[in-house]
Amino acid sequence: MTQVRRTAGAGASSGAARYPARAAFKTLLVNEMYPAIQGEGPEQGYPTVLVRLTGCNLRCGYCDSAHAYYRGSRRAIGDVAADVAAFGIRRVLVTGGEPLAQSGTPALCRALLRRGHAVSVETNGSYDLSALPRGVRKVVDVKTPGSGEEGSFDAGILGQISRGDVLKFVCTGREDYLWARRFLEGPGSGRRAGVVLMPAWSELEARDLARWVLEDRLPVRVQVQLHKLLWGERRGV
Ligand code: SF4
Repeated sequence: MTQVRRTAGAGASSGAARYPARAAFKTLLVNEMYPAIQGEGPEQGYPTVLVRLTGCNLRCGYCDSAHAYYRGSRRAIGDVAADVAAFGIRRVLVTGGEPLAQSGTPALCRALLRRGHAVSVETNGSYDLSALPRGVRKVVDVKTPGSGEEGSFDAGILGQISRGDVLKFVCTGREDYLWARRFLEGPGSGRRAGVVLMPAWSELEARDLARWVLEDRLPVRVQVQLHKLLWGERRGV
């Protein structure tokens, strides 16, 4: 098990505050922002503003967001929240990259909640979740062996997951499916959370995954990436 990463910049030294001074929270590096039909997770199918933040600590083999590893615009958090509001859509997904790699992400969530948005954060399972404000729905990846990042998940964050949050497993094949099934059978496997299993696009047939789930009577949701069915493998949709 790897050590849970604190939200970037947090808890630098002994006796230090767990999170950095307020000034460090004022800006975020934003890769892109657009209105979308939510493609996956518990809000799948709903119009949603997608806020993609720059940077990720992992390098999954099937990553479809590599353009967010480095490039972005440095924006004031208040401006980002105002731009989101201008889309006129209540639901917001803060994603990446890895959104918790930036220390300002909890502050953005608070700003969005204050404006009345329903906020979800999609995170890769390697970061501490405790800085996220109450009311944010957490969609937490558990990286399977086929991702190339097995071991990045820290079981310590399972205690930070509440009812309404979601654990998500992207499966590249049968081995990943069996790995996910074993994980879900394990102690403290996040039983309070919903569970989504998704085939990695172009790597596993959704119907195979669906068949395995049915055969095993697994109480999980099978999803495919709706935005790719709707629009193809394009950015900004
Ligand atoms: S965690 Fe997400 S953004 Fe980061 S490499 Fe994996 S799939 Fe890509």
